Amino acid sequence: MTRAFITGIGGQDGSYLAEQLVAEGVEVHALAHAIEPLPDAPGVELHSGDLTDVDDVRSLLIDLAPDEVYNLAAMSSVARSWEKPDLTAQVNGMAAAALLESALLVQEKLDRPVRFVQASSAEIFGQPDRSPQDESTPVRPLNPYGAAKAYAHLMVEVYRRRGLHAVSAILYNHESPRRPEQFVTRKITSTVASIARGRADVLTLGNLDARRDWGWAPDYVDAMVRAARADQATDYVVATGVAHSVRDFVAAAFAQAGITDWEDLVVVDQEFVRPADPTELVGNATRARRLLGWSPTVGFDEVVQHMVEADLAAG
Ligand code: NAP
Repeated sequence: MTRAFITGIGGQDGSYLAEQLVAEGVEVHALAHAIEPLPDAPGVELHSGDLTDVDDVRSLLIDLAPDEVYNLAAMSSVARSWEKPDLTAQVNGMAAAALLESALLVQEKLDRPVRFVQASSAEIFGQPDRSPQDESTPVRPLNPYGAAKAYAHLMVEVYRRRGLHAVSAILYNHESPRRPEQFVTRKITSTVASIARGRADVLTLGNLDARRDWGWAPDYVDAMVRAARADQATDYVVATGVAHSVRDFVAAAFAQAGITDWEDLVVVDQEFVRPADPTELVGNATRARRLLGWSPTVGFDEVVQHMVEADLAAG
């Protein structure tokens, strides 16, 4: 039986990944962040801990000896990374490097392959001069989150050269009803649902013209599993290839809630415009399509629909 180890189980992707692996019959172990309440993860053996406690996590990994390691734990908000650049570097960068080393130690000790997937990010490209981006786009991050992810991304290549089946999944934005409300998409859908229920008056946002390549979180988790199991380890852009503006997202969310005249319900506040905001990140996932047989199964309108429906249903 395949045994997997997941970090970041309490997050959006960790929960979907655990569900996918458990459904496949994989024995799933996960690091549950010590400061959060234990996540509800049926079928998963949870181990409390902090990824930055490198020695503890290394002992755990050596004890568990997993076949697959998925490193999803991160300080995942770009905005918060400006407030906590040092913590961001520790969690998203240094702890990822330590986990790669731990995986290699397990591989060498047991003399069998360990497959490692790092949840990287399109933010490693910063404000790229070409669009769409692919795996050969220069890494030139513009914020602390992207810089820490870039370090981990480069370390994946370093460990791949040392013989680890290490993969960096360069993830573009992906959403779901499980996205926390500090992220713009969920802020939009939860506020639109509140407005529709008469519990909020306005939706306050930053730059409505910012454009993003938004996909469906379970699709992106599936790409990571496929990448772990591919014969060859390489990096993959995971993206839909289609960008939409925040304004498009807002319009689709209001439409889903049955509100057509929404312009007066949206207030633009400069406070929410984040520094060095890349204007357009769009990914070219040709390699993932070709080598992993992966493609997105849920389009933009459906993503918005699922999120608004869930927020309306939550009351
Ligand atoms: P998420 O919902 O923010 O989940 C991240 C998880 O990591 C949280 O459960 C968090 O726990 C945990 N964590 C943070 N610091 C930790 C630490 N020191 N030790 C152990 N666990 C820690 O993120 P996500 O949306 O699922 O994303 C998964 C991964 O993909 C992340 O690495 C993210 O950076 C990357 N990614 C996501 C997107 C996206 O659009 N979702 C795009 C590109 C890349 P606490 O809440 O307790 O801190």
